[in-house]
Amino acid sequence: MKGGRRRELPYIFSPGRRLLHVVVEMKEIPRAYATVLNILSARLNLIETVTYRTGDRAIFSGFAEPLEPDETPDSIKKLLAVSPMVTDCIVTSSTNGVLVDTFHRGLETGNGEPLVMFRRHGISRMFDQVASIPGGGGEVTLFNEGVAVGDSDGSEILSTWKPGFMADGFPTLLTLFSAFGWGSATAMERTDPRAVRIRMDDCFECSTGRKAKSCAFVRGFLVGSARTLLGREVKCEEPVCRLRGDDHCEFLIDTGLSSPAST
Ligand SMILES: [Zn+2]
Repeated sequence: MKGGRRRELPYIFSPGRRLLHVVVEMKEIPRAYATVLNILSARLNLIETVTYRTGDRAIFSGFAEPLEPDETPDSIKKLLAVSPMVTDCIVTSSTNGVLVDTFHRGLETGNGEPLVMFRRHGISRMFDQVASIPGGGGEVTLFNEGVAVGDSDGSEILSTWKPGFMADGFPTLLTLFSAFGWGSATAMERTDPRAVRIRMDDCFECSTGRKAKSCAFVRGFLVGSARTLLGREVKCEEPVCRLRGDDHCEFLIDTGLSSPAST
């Protein structure tokens, strides 16, 4: 089975359909989720759902379409209130085909680090604008911004994953790029013991860019994160880039030592 992008629905757009957004706070016991699903699936076509734990409670949240035309947010709330597994619930509705999830305020990682969402093309176009600043200063700015983000993410990973994990953590770190939607990163065969070469397919920075000549932000990010994780200065070049006509990007990181992944 081929992987793809995970569908994240901060809102749902479905003209001509009546939509509900159901949020249920449940007692944190395994049976609660099954009970709530049973109650809801008898009356609603569940379009997209998510369940997670937060502290001593569990949250179910989902967009749904009523199976019967006379179903209302109140009728669903009454249905849920009967169950001893349910401690609270919110049901909102829309008739104009657009329903926003107003319960959640952004995203977070499993460690509680807040995340923001931007449309990929929007970010790529923003970088394009910065890169087009006359005099070549734009790409330097993008590189420095990448270093700042890399430093921050590297510190976060160090404090969460602990330095000992880094001994064989490099392949795992690379998989984070695609998990976050930045592109698909793979480690290439090493020709120089000091250097790490990373192939990036579908890099977000050059996904719509036309004005820049390289993925300066990603290059800066690799410098910032690698130097934070390794604890020493590193260099990075991008010898292959889609912005110069190649079909993918490659980043060559000079780690300064012969076995960077084992530090
Ligand atoms: Zn590139």
